[in-house]
Amino acid sequence: MPDGGRHDEGDLPAGDFSAWMTEMRGALRGEHGADVPCGGCTACCTSSQFVHIGPDEADTLSHVPAALLFPAPRLPRGHVLLGYDEHGRCPMLVDDTCSIYEHRPRACRTYDCRVFPAAGLGVDDDKPLIARRARRWRFSHPTRADQARHDAVRAAAAYLQEHAGSLPRGAVPSDATKLAVLAVELHEAFLGRDGGTGEATVVEPGPREVQVELGRRW
Ligand code: SF4
Repeated sequence: MPDGGRHDEGDLPAGDFSAWMTEMRGALRGEHGADVPCGGCTACCTSSQFVHIGPDEADTLSHVPAALLFPAPRLPRGHVLLGYDEHGRCPMLVDDTCSIYEHRPRACRTYDCRVFPAAGLGVDDDKPLIARRARRWRFSHPTRADQARHDAVRAAAAYLQEHAGSLPRGAVPSDATKLAVLAVELHEAFLGRDGGTGEATVVEPGPREVQVELGRRW
């Protein structure tokens, strides 16, 4: 049964951090969808989100009525957005189930609200249902490497926020989801080895290194 935020106080196991990271990176590379234990939660489908669909997503486009789509601002022709109704719900959500689940957009396949606690970021204020869900996730850190990797993602997110003004214009997204994803993508630059123990630990890269990493993603 969808919980939709009704049973919203208890912790939810988010899995071992390194295992989650492996999955998340595969999803971001488009190798597979995100394997999120949603447990019936539909917060991300009911939070007034515009869902991007790329021109290469022919299967999805053939399952969404054209009348529900409109051109995506600032993107090349063919990129479209799927909007939401007056209650903030995706029109493809029927009886709290995605009616095109097997054909859902890439953006939905890769969305994982565990990215917020992974990066130590809060959810944008206008998405309270997602925020409530994201606050419940608890990662496990069975090894020091798990903890160090998690710390590195948080350090990357904090660095990006702190240095947004000195990084190239537009390099640091204002949107919390995109910022969290960027922190995941950049975090290796914040991982190093302790000189004494050889254990994984958090390091702060120089500005040049961060800019090079950012440049690879533009
Ligand atoms: S297309 Fe499906 S998964 Fe995506 S937001 Fe709509 S209902 Fe949710």
